[in-house]
Amino acid sequence: MEILLAEDMGFCFGVKRAIKIARDKRKETENNIYTLGSIIHNPQVVEKLKEEGIVPVGNLDEITNGYVVISSHGVSPLVQDDIKKRGLKSIDATCPLVKRVQEKALELVMEGYEVFVIGEKEHLEVQGIVGYTGGKIKVINPEENIEFKEKDRVGLVAQTTQTMKSLEDAILKILPKVKELKVFNTICEVTNKRQKEIKKLAKMADIIIVIGGRKSANTKRLAALAKDEGCETYHVEEVKDINEDWFLGKNKVGITAGASTPDWIIKEVIDRLNLIAKKKEGILHER
Ligand code: SF4
Repeated sequence: MEILLAEDMGFCFGVKRAIKIARDKRKETENNIYTLGSIIHNPQVVEKLKEEGIVPVGNLDEITNGYVVISSHGVSPLVQDDIKKRGLKSIDATCPLVKRVQEKALELVMEGYEVFVIGEKEHLEVQGIVGYTGGKIKVINPEENIEFKEKDRVGLVAQTTQTMKSLEDAILKILPKVKELKVFNTICEVTNKRQKEIKKLAKMADIIIVIGGRKSANTKRLAALAKDEGCETYHVEEVKDINEDWFLGKNKVGITAGASTPDWIIKEVIDRLNLIAKKKEGILHER
């Protein structure tokens, strides 16, 4: 069984940066520091950081003093204000590319456009983008049918981990109904490159393994894209999720990982697949 690895996988620069910011601050202080929600969408990394004194909390009521790290997904200014009001100190680890979406959305609002963001309403990043504009923009979920009434001037941005197809589909639906449409392509280049790669890999492989947190938006999207190509695809969080039976009769397995998946989890999965491949070869030689 041949193992094909995606060229680029695992931690992106935004995730590496957020973890470094949190670790550097932790080293400077005697006490635990906190992250509002998970700093990245990978439970194994979050657990490791917790052991180092970088503790996730569900809401600010759980903290009485100290530092709060804003995750790579960003938050709305209201949350930042709340942190200040409580006498807590915030450390901003928002990915610069997420910051760019926030700024572009606000720029469009200031220019008088009716602004939409393509993304998942419940995702922290999208909530942060909406909050940054003071709630003046609306969310378009790409999974839903876009109902769009005639409008004059519309502005459009996208959550960084959306697919280019979602953005293009939205443009095609909106454009015939508006006099003017101004779009910023705010899909992150790392995401875009990995999405293109997984499509290629899915065409070459019999089975695709996507490694990453179950809540990670970019990981889920990689798995969905591989499935869309008609390739049998499994989204695993850790090596223990691998089922040997999946590889029966398979000759080529493609592997990729989300932007919040650490190298050690990727290595464990690759090692396990190498073992499965060797075992399969052994069985063939015995016959
Ligand atoms: S996936 Fe892109 S936008 Fe998201 S944290 Fe990584 S670099 Fe930033």
